[in-house]
Amino acid sequence: MDMQNKTDRAVEVLVIGAGMAGLLAARTLKEAGREPVVIDKGRGLGGRMATRRIGGAIFDHGAQFITARDVRFAALLEEAGGAGAASEWCKGFSGKGDGHARWRGVPGMTGLARYLAQGLEMVQEKQVEALRLSEGGWKVEMTGGESWAAKAVILTAPVPQSLVLLAKGGVVLPEEWKGRLEAIRYERCLAVMAVLDGPSNLPEPGGLALNEGPIAWMADNQKKGVSGEAAVTIHATPEFSLEHWEKDRDEAARLLLEAAAPWLGAGVKTVQVHGWKFSKPVEGEAEACAVVHRAPKLVLAGDSFCGSRVEGAALSGWAAAEAVLA
Ligand SMILES: Cc1cc2nc3c(=O)[nH]c(=O)nc-3n(C[C@H](O)[C@H](O)[C@H](O)COP(=O)(O)OP(=O)(O)OC[C@H]3O[C@@H](n4cnc5c(N)ncnc54)[C@H](O)[C@@H]3O)c2cc1C
Repeated sequence: MDMQNKTDRAVEVLVIGAGMAGLLAARTLKEAGREPVVIDKGRGLGGRMATRRIGGAIFDHGAQFITARDVRFAALLEEAGGAGAASEWCKGFSGKGDGHARWRGVPGMTGLARYLAQGLEMVQEKQVEALRLSEGGWKVEMTGGESWAAKAVILTAPVPQSLVLLAKGGVVLPEEWKGRLEAIRYERCLAVMAVLDGPSNLPEPGGLALNEGPIAWMADNQKKGVSGEAAVTIHATPEFSLEHWEKDRDEAARLLLEAAAPWLGAGVKTVQVHGWKFSKPVEGEAEACAVVHRAPKLVLAGDSFCGSRVEGAALSGWAAAEAVLA
């Protein structure tokens, strides 16, 4: 048998990425009677809506809160809230706030992702290496040599990563998209998770945007309601993250904790650092998704489109599903 052409599995629509965009794309396809399969290289669901446990302390270390300007997305958050998978955290972080709801996942951000994934077929810890046009569909090559066939693909990795998969499979981008997609850049973010030996000094409701010096944002996961133990997330600014990306991460954490000391107000018991290489798009694409191939369908979606937020990813996921169904 020719191993080169061996197909390990054939699927109708493959959704690559189990973040907000991929999950909502798959839900929409499923509601329309299709049989989507969602594949993700990660162990958990949610992508950058990420929650990590260190002992008894729990951290949201990616997306911190979710805002909803779009009526449909607001209704989805209300629905998840009703099911106990999301709740309103606050209406702003300074003084009386600005009146706009900031939502969080329950118990953490990944709780919302798990809720959205209900009823969907999920394949985790499988990484796509390349997408290749093959007769009547897409050949999806995985790390380790597995190969799948898909009639249509929705690709929701950050666009710079998606373009690598397409280049490896020799997919030629249409002229209308090539320059625009290649121009999309992402900021990096070093995230420090610190378990404290007592409550932090961060004011209620536990979130603080600094955006000066090395720190962009700090959150007290205990005041937020995510963690039973004192657990603070610190996000470095894009400038600090870039400068320290290749350097000693322990040293970067030390500098960030030093700058955070006035708000910590307690001893640090344990520290972990996570680097988000693709944190938020510097400038995204205004269109809701990119149909880069019509027959067979290949659609790029995610927060590179519709705004650099969870809500943008959601709107883009919906648009991608509609493009596949069209
Ligand atoms: C530190 C940080 C703070 C943030 N704060 C906020 C905030 O407060 N509010 C807000 O609204 N937004 C925030 N964001 C942005 C928000 O997290 C994203 O906009 C949103 O979660 C993106 O969703 P997505 O589905 O487009 O992508 P992702 O969540 O990145 O999902 C893409 C998925 O694709 C998978 N994948 C990638 N490549 C492959 C491959 N080759 N094979 C298989 N799987 C693959 C990844 O594992 C990932 O799970 C923050 C982001 C970061 C990093």
